[in-house]
Parts: sequence; structure tokens; C-alpha cells
Amino acid sequence: MKLFKISIFILLLTAFNGLHAQQSGSVDLKAFHGISSHDLLDYAAELSSDQYGGRLSGSPGYTAAAQWVAGRLKEWGVKPAAGSSGYFQHFPNAWTEVLNPGSVLIFPAKEKGGNPIALKFPDEYYPGSNSGSGTAEGEVVYAGFGITAPELGYDDYAGMDVRGKIVMIESGVPYTQNDKGLAQWEPYSYHRYKFQRARELGAAGLLYVGLTANPNTSYLEGFVYAHIAEDIAEELFRDSGKTFAGMKPEIVKAMKPSSLSLKRRVAITATTRHYPEALSCNVVGIIEGTDPLLKEEAIIIGGHLDGVGSPGMVFPGALDNASGVADILGAARALAMSEVKPLRTVIFIFFGGEECGLYGASKFVEDPLWPKEKTVFMMNLDMVGNGTGFHLSGGLSHPDIYRHFEEANRIYLHRDLRSSEVRQSFGRPRTDGAVFEKAGYPTLGLWTTGSVKTVYYHHPLDNIDGLTPEIMEDAAKLLYTGILGVANDRTLKLSGN
Ligand SMILES: [Zn+2]
Repeated sequence: MKLFKISIFILLLTAFNGLHAQQSGSVDLKAFHGISSHDLLDYAAELSSDQYGGRLSGSPGYTAAAQWVAGRLKEWGVKPAAGSSGYFQHFPNAWTEVLNPGSVLIFPAKEKGGNPIALKFPDEYYPGSNSGSGTAEGEVVYAGFGITAPELGYDDYAGMDVRGKIVMIESGVPYTQNDKGLAQWEPYSYHRYKFQRARELGAAGLLYVGLTANPNTSYLEGFVYAHIAEDIAEELFRDSGKTFAGMKPEIVKAMKPSSLSLKRRVAITATTRHYPEALSCNVVGIIEGTDPLLKEEAIIIGGHLDGVGSPGMVFPGALDNASGVADILGAARALAMSEVKPLRTVIFIFFGGEECGLYGASKFVEDPLWPKEKTVFMMNLDMVGNGTGFHLSGGLSHPDIYRHFEEANRIYLHRDLRSSEVRQSFGRPRTDGAVFEKAGYPTLGLWTTGSVKTVYYHHPLDNIDGLTPEIMEDAAKLLYTGILGVANDRTLKLSGN
């Protein structure tokens, strides 16, 4: 009797489960629930570990990380994309190895005398990610944004002689609106431009204000530079009669340079090795659609795998962007094991060279492994691992796509989900998604909102302690469910068709 009751119960339970599965027939609940925060945190921890050295694109550490990702795809049955070499799409990627933290010495003002002060790494300075090797010593000249733009009537170097001196500059441009005016300033917004200009004018070295490690700079043989904290810049301004904090607002307001010599000497020392001929790669995996016609159409989900490497020590790049990679891996694994198969094709890309200047995304749009006109949309994930909610940028411009993610969230996840229209940027592209957007792909971006942990950006403390694995699990679930929703929507038309 008891046994009988139990079997009835099991029978009912099975029927209920069947019903439930039917109601939510758009996904495989086993695959959905197989996405676990533990696994995703493990992926992020693996990629953030010292063995990959911060995953600087072009470096052996990055290549090893790319191989690890390809290994997971292979293990789960996600195939290499046709046209890639294995899972790898290669491109040239020069890089620089920073062999030790080097030093930045600040000499006291002449009349005061005394010994130079050595700045502390990593709290007060970072060695330049593409610094030349050697020592540059000289007087510090503050040169604003470091821009000479004759057609815009603007020159931070006008009337200044910076030969043999150390130039101190800021990132960005004096024009701060996002409109057509900004487009004119775009060529001057690149770090590379600023470095080349300073070098051209004979500067001995450069101090870049702001503690943000960045390999998106130029390696110029013998040209030594370092990043310094803003309070160090302030200290160098001490005897100038001005404040560093006051300079940028003054320049921006008047749209006029305000360069000056700070009458302080510094010495920057760096030890680096440059690899001009190096190669890097994107890792590209594919799950072919099951419908004979719809499989010609693909959904692309991407995020950058590279980081800023080890300028003086390992910068783990956990949030930026091991988190996004882990989210995508979680979705890829679920989709590979899913009993509910996608009718359309799904492509997962792990970009290299993002931090060096969006190399990997640029390579893909120039040499696409899938025809652009047959791509339903591209979604980029960057820093998706700290918070309580989601922002899906571009969703409101692509409602037929967005509604599937909105539905996935409404039915399964119940997170705070916001969206926005595609916002045209007149400045330089800053994300892999922006590269696709510029190339004409319908592009969305997934971000987490409501940070729970402190965000350390391009910082040695960007480690896995700064991640909230629960939101990563939900990001992967949102991807898995939303991708299936779009992939299996027979009413959906390719934009432009
Ligand atoms: Zn990033």
C-alpha cells in the first residue's frame, strides 16, 4: 500500500514535471539549472590565476589562457568555427614585457635640497605597460592633454620647449560633449597619439596621470614613461602656484591650453622587453543550428579574454573580464548539453587584444568567420560579475531580440533588468561591442548594475574577491535562455531583410 502511494506520488510528480517542462518548453531545465555559480567562479579563478600572468594579449600567458578556453569548448562539444585555425583566429599583436616595477624618483625643489623620494608601487605609480627600457630624468612640464591640433586651434605645447624634459599629461580631450564636435577630437584622444607627439617634440619621458594600467599605448624605443596617482601629480604642482585638480576644469572651460613648467625634477626607470612580431588570437566556438534554413543565421556572443598583464606584478583582471568570459562559458556549456537545441547557429567569441586597442574585435569584423548579413545580433559582455541587476544596452533599439531576454528574466531570474537604445558615440570606440556596432552589426551589451563589491579597474586588486558569483550564474542563465529564445523564434527577421 505504502509502495503504491509512493508510485502514485512519483507518477504525479513526473506528470507535473512534464507539464512544467512543457510550459517552459523553450529551455531545457536540466541544462538551465546545471549552470552553477561554483563552476563560473572556478572559471574566473582559473583565468585570474598567476599562471596566466594577467592575460596580456600577445604574451605566453594569454596564449595559455586561450588554450584553456578552447580546451573547455572542446570538452563540451562546442566546435571550432570554420575558417579559424582550430579554435583560434590569429592577428598580429606586439606586446611589451615589464620585467620589474622599475622606479619613479621625485627630487625635492632646488632651494629645499635633500634626497629624492621614491614613489611606492603600486599605490603611487605603475610602470608603463609599453615603456621603453632605461632611465629618463628631467624637469617636469605639465602639458595638459598633450595635444597639438592646428585645425582646431589648440596646442598644449604652444610656446613650450619640452626637449629633454618629462612631460606630464592627462588622458582625454578638452572637448567633453558627445556630439559631432567630439568626432573632430577623436584622433587626438588616443594614448598612442599623445605618446608619439611628446616623443616627436623631444621629450625625454612621460608621466601619465591616473593609476590605470593600460597596454593601449605606444612602445617607442628608449621612451620611458610611468602612470602616477593624482595626489602625486598634486605634489609635483606644489610650488607652481596652481593645483593639479584645478587644471583640467580650467582648460575645458576656456578650451585653451594652460601648460606650465613645474620646476621639479623626476627620474623614471623602467626595464622592459618588447616583442614586435608577436601574434595573438580570438578563440571562436560554434554550435550549429538544427534547422536546415535557419542555421544559416547566427547569433554572436562575445567578451574579451585578455587583460592588462603584469606591469610590475600580476593584474588578475577578474572582473575585467574573466567574469564575462566565465558567464559566456557557462552559457556555452549549457547550450552544448541542452536537449532543447537552437534552430539558428550560435557563435561564442573570446576576444584577444581588447586592452591593446580592440584588435581582436577589429580582426573579426574585417575577416568575419560568419557573414555579417547573416548575423542576427552580436552581444558583448565586459565586466559582468559584480552587482544585483542587469543592463542590456541597445535592447530598446532591437525589441525583437530584447524581448526574449526580458522574458527570460521575467520568468526565471527576476533581476532588475534595464535597457536602453543604441547610443551613438562620437568619440573613439571603447569596447568590442562598439567595433561591431560601427561595422553595422545589431549590437547589444550586457552589464551588471548595483555593484556590491568595490570595483578595482585595471588594478592589482581586480581579483576574484571582487566578484559576486550569484549574478554571474544569472548572467549565464539569462544568456542561455535568451539565446534559445532568439535562436528558436521563427517569426524573427534578420534586420535589413
Ligand atoms: Zn574590459
